[in-house]
Amino acid sequence: MLTDESPLSTVYEPTGQDPVVYLKRYYGYDRFRPMQEAIIRSIVSGRDTVVLMPTGGGKSVCFQIPALMMPGLCVVVSPLIALMKDQVEALHLNGIAAAYINSSQGVKEMRDVEANCVSGKIKLLYVSPEKLLSESFYVFLNRMKISMFAIDEAHCISSWGHDFRPEYTQLNTLRKWFPNVPIIALTATADRLTRQDISDRLDMRDPAVFIASFNRTNLSLQVLPGTNRIGQITKLISLKPNTSGIIYCLSRKSCETLATKLMEKGYSAAFYHAGMESSERARIQEAFLRDDVKIMCATIAFGMGIDKSNVRWVMHYNMPKNIEGYYQEIGRAGRDGLPSQTVLFYSFADVATYTQMLTENKPANLELQLAKLERMKQYAEANTCRRQILLSYFSEQLPEPCGNCDVCRSPRITFDATTVAQKALSAIIRLGERVPMNVLIDVLRGSRNYSIVSQGFDKIKTYGAGADLKFEEWRSYLHQLINIGVIEVAYENHYALRKGLLADDVLFNGKTISLVRPDDVPKPVVEKATRTRTESNRDELFERLRTLRKRIADAQNVPPYVVFTDSTLEDMARQRPTTPDAFRNVSGVGERKLEMFGTAFLTEIADYVGVQVGESQRQVRSEAPSRPREAAKPKGSTQQMTLELYQQGMTIQQIAQARELGPSSIANHLIQLSQGGYDVELESLITPAERREIEAAIAIVGIEENRTKPVFDHLEGRYDYGKINITIALMKH
Ligand code: ADP
Ligand code: ZN
Repeated sequence: MLTDESPLSTVYEPTGQDPVVYLKRYYGYDRFRPMQEAIIRSIVSGRDTVVLMPTGGGKSVCFQIPALMMPGLCVVVSPLIALMKDQVEALHLNGIAAAYINSSQGVKEMRDVEANCVSGKIKLLYVSPEKLLSESFYVFLNRMKISMFAIDEAHCISSWGHDFRPEYTQLNTLRKWFPNVPIIALTATADRLTRQDISDRLDMRDPAVFIASFNRTNLSLQVLPGTNRIGQITKLISLKPNTSGIIYCLSRKSCETLATKLMEKGYSAAFYHAGMESSERARIQEAFLRDDVKIMCATIAFGMGIDKSNVRWVMHYNMPKNIEGYYQEIGRAGRDGLPSQTVLFYSFADVATYTQMLTENKPANLELQLAKLERMKQYAEANTCRRQILLSYFSEQLPEPCGNCDVCRSPRITFDATTVAQKALSAIIRLGERVPMNVLIDVLRGSRNYSIVSQGFDKIKTYGAGADLKFEEWRSYLHQLINIGVIEVAYENHYALRKGLLADDVLFNGKTISLVRPDDVPKPVVEKATRTRTESNRDELFERLRTLRKRIADAQNVPPYVVFTDSTLEDMARQRPTTPDAFRNVSGVGERKLEMFGTAFLTEIADYVGVQVGESQRQVRSEAPSRPREAAKPKGSTQQMTLELYQQGMTIQQIAQARELGPSSIANHLIQLSQGGYDVELESLITPAERREIEAAIAIVGIEENRTKPVFDHLEGRYDYGKINITIALMKH
C-alpha cells in the first residue's frame, strides 16, 4: 500500500501558528470557509468547542488542523469502524501522520500503532467509543500527551437524535479522566435539542458553539410528480453520463427492482439495503466509493458517514418521512461544493402509506411524527421557494428566494378553480363518499367504463360534468384539493375520497380556491445542450484526468475522490498547469499530492495541450536555483525514488509495480531525469524493434501540434505513452 510513501517517513515540521499555512500545505486550499478559522482558533486556545455544520461544510479541517498545530496526540472518536481506514488513508495522502485502532486489527499492527503514538510520530488517532473507554486504553493514553479529543458524528450521543448510539453516552468519562484536555464535538445535525444535549452529555465547560449556515447553495432542489418515475429517472441520468448518484427508495423490493431495470437499460447500477448480508453490503458500498458502480438504489440504510465527495445527484423515488431525513439524504450530493442535482418524486400515495403505517403502529410520539410528515408534504407541494421552506424548518432565514429550486426557476401561475372544486365535491357526495380517485375521475369525465355503468354511476347528476378536462388534469387538481384540505382520503376505506375540512366552506360559504395548472407543475428540466468550445475542451480534458485519477486510485487502493476531488480536477482542467509550481496553484493540491501525483497529471495535461513533457520540464529547471547534477538529491521526490530503483537495475515494468504507478509515469520520470542530466540511458529502455515501429507510426501520422495521442491511436494501444515519449525523446536527441 502506501508503505514507502507513508507520511511517517517525513519529518513533521511545525509551520508556525497561522492556520492558513497548514490549510495550503496539507490540503492545498487558499482560503478558509466561513467559521473554519474561528473554530480552529477556539480549539487551539484550549476551549471546548461544538461545531454544527452541514454535510460537506468542511468539518474535518476544523479538528485536523488544530491536531497538527498543537503538541501531542489528537484522539478522534468515530462510530464507523468501516470508514476509519479510508479516513486515515485520505490523511496519509495529504501528508498527515494518522492511524486508527479498532477490532479489525491484529495484535502486532495495534502494537505498532501504539508505539508510533507514544514516540510522537502520529498526530491523529481514530478510535471507536468502545475502544476509547476501555481501561487498557486509558493506561495507554496516559503514557503520552493528548492534545484534544474530537468527537465526530456527535449527534450519536443524543437520544433525541435520529442516530442514537448507547456507547456514545459513556463519553462523559473523558472529562473525568482528562479534565484539562479540550474536546471538540462535530455534527451535521441541526436540531436544537440535540445541540444542547451534546454539550451537556460531554460535560463541556462553557463551550464555544459554532453554527454554520445549513444552506447548501450548490444543491439544486426539484420536486417532480411521482408518475412514470423510471422514465423520468432515465431521462435525468442520461443527461449526466458517468456521474455517481444515489436513488433512495422506500422498500427493499423497490431498490432491487429499480436497480435491475436500470441495469437492463445499460446503466452501471446496484442496490443496497439492510436485508442483505453485511459482507455483500460492504462490497457494494466499496464499489460505489471507487466509482466501479455509478448508481446506487438504496434504502436510507445507505449513506451514513460515507464521505464520497463526488456524488453528483441524489433522487428520492419516494417521499421521505420528514425534512430532517430528506435534508441529510440530499446532503450526500456535492460535498466537494460543485453544483449537484437533487430530485424528489412526490406522490400523495406515499403520504397515505406513511399515515396508515403510523396510525396502525401507534408509536409513542405519533403526533410529532404526523406533524413532521405534514411539514414534509407541505414542502413537496409548495408553490414558493423550496429552500426558504427548508431553511426556515432549521430556524434559518433566507431573505430572498434562492433561484436554484424548481419553483424559483419556473414560478407557478394559479387560476380560480372554485367551480372545479365544487364539481368534484358534488360528485363525491353523490357517490356516497365511497369511491377512490380513479373512479371519481371516470364519473366526472362521463366514462362508459363497464364498472361505472354497471354500478349505475352514470345516473348521478354530476356524471360527465367535468368532461372538458383530461384525466391527468383532474388527477392533478384532485391531488391539489387533497393537499389543501378540501378533499380527504379515507385510508381505512380503500382510499375512498370524502369531504375534507374545507369542503362545506367551498360548497356553501363562498370560499374561493386557486389551483396550479398541470403545465406549471414541474417537468424534468432539460439542461442546456449548447456548450462553448472552451467548455467542451475542458470537459474532454476533465474526462482524461478522471480516467487517470481512477487508474492511480486503483493502484493506490483508495477511492478516486481521495486522490483528488472532482472540483480539483475541474480546476486543473481550467488552469491546465504544465509546471509543478502552476500545479500547486490548483485548489486542492497540497505538497504531498504534488509530490505523489504531480508528474502523472502534468504529463496528461501536457499531452493534451500539446506541450512536450521535456519542454515543460525545462521550464521547471530554469526556475530551479541550481543545476540538477550539482543539486542535492531532491529528497523524497518521486523522480528520485524512480531513479534509485532504476540504478538497482530494475526495468520500467518492475519499477512501476514496485511503486504502484503506471509504466508511463515511470518512463516519463526517466525521460525527465535523462534530460536533467542524470545518468539514465533511454536507449536501453526500449528495444530497437519497438523503436522502429513507433518511429514508423510517427512518420505516418506526425506529431500533430506536439500531441502524441494520434501516434498512440495509430499503434492501436500496443505501446503506452511512456514508450512513445521515449522514442520521441530519442528522436530529438
Ligand atoms: P464534512 O465532514 O463537514 O461533511 P468535509 O470535511 O469532508 O466535510 O469537507 C467537504 C469537502 O470540502 C472536502 O472535499 C474538503 O476537502 C473540502 N474543503 C474543506 N475545507 C475547504 C476549504 N477551506 N476550501 C476548499 N475546500 C474545502
Ligand atoms: Zn428557490
